Amino acid sequence: MPYMPCTVDELLPPLRVLIAAPRGFCAGVDRAIQIVELALERFGAPVYVRHEIVHNRFVVERLKKMGAVFVDELEEVPDDRPVVFSAHGVPKSVPTEAQERGLTYVDATCPLVSKVHRQAQRLIEEGRHILFIGHAGHPEVIGTFGQVPGGSITLIETVEDVAELNLADTANLAFLTQTTLSVDDTAAIVEALKTRFPAIRAPRSEDICYATSNRQAAVKAIAPECDRMLVIGAPNSSNSLRLAEVAQRIGVPARLIERAKDIDWDWLGRPETVGITAGASAPEVLVREVVDALRTRFDVTEETADHTPERMTFKLPRELVA
Ligand code: SF4
Repeated sequence: MPYMPCTVDELLPPLRVLIAAPRGFCAGVDRAIQIVELALERFGAPVYVRHEIVHNRFVVERLKKMGAVFVDELEEVPDDRPVVFSAHGVPKSVPTEAQERGLTYVDATCPLVSKVHRQAQRLIEEGRHILFIGHAGHPEVIGTFGQVPGGSITLIETVEDVAELNLADTANLAFLTQTTLSVDDTAAIVEALKTRFPAIRAPRSEDICYATSNRQAAVKAIAPECDRMLVIGAPNSSNSLRLAEVAQRIGVPARLIERAKDIDWDWLGRPETVGITAGASAPEVLVREVVDALRTRFDVTEETADHTPERMTFKLPRELVA
């Protein structure tokens, strides 16, 4: 029999890579990044951005190279430079301060977060106390709390928090939620709220946004076929953390990674199928990077599992497109 040399691919173990869809950028993140890019075109560099425009280091570094300067507070912005507010939303005091200083500012708050802000303001006008389901310290929570007077809104993080609530007046309650929560955890908290306060006012429509719900549903759809799940996203990205939790609850070991270099190859082992998804602030280029890294160690067969097609887009602020 003639000698047949082996190709590299034949030596590598087979691996099915199942890529969740939808994944990655949502309409709000896409819009926020475009706003910074357009602001750089319109005003020239530097353009200041208050907080990470979206929770992704790769995106932030790219914008920095283009001339964006990221700061924590408005006081770090010089009077003669424009500033963009991040997609997570800001307390009312921030645009007020910008106006008082005569700063040029562009608000990149996701329209779905702004919708929650408006709901909060309306509920306060109706004389209600708001129970807000969210995660302490997240910029979106800080932004929403900053829409209403202090003491008129209470944070609820868990079902246990509902049992421990000690409110002087429970006659006029309403609840709202952060947009990037776990659909399942939130349903349990809402259930607990409705049981304890049957008259509580619910939002007219779901506050958890379409992108968060769709990405969690897509993970649920592929998880039963996966031995491991890689979730691409930042450790401070709420919706990415929730994706890893969703897989883990189904019994699939999952890891949140920022880049391909974060793959723990010992943990990954020799799986038959690896699932991949990406949080709403993680660009597709990072998904490709992870698949390419897997190809260096496995003979990869790639499949995409389409779950819910998305067509959502948001208008850009008039001042940047006019
Ligand atoms: S995750 Fe949802 S709320 Fe957040 S920016 Fe994206 S679309 Fe908007």
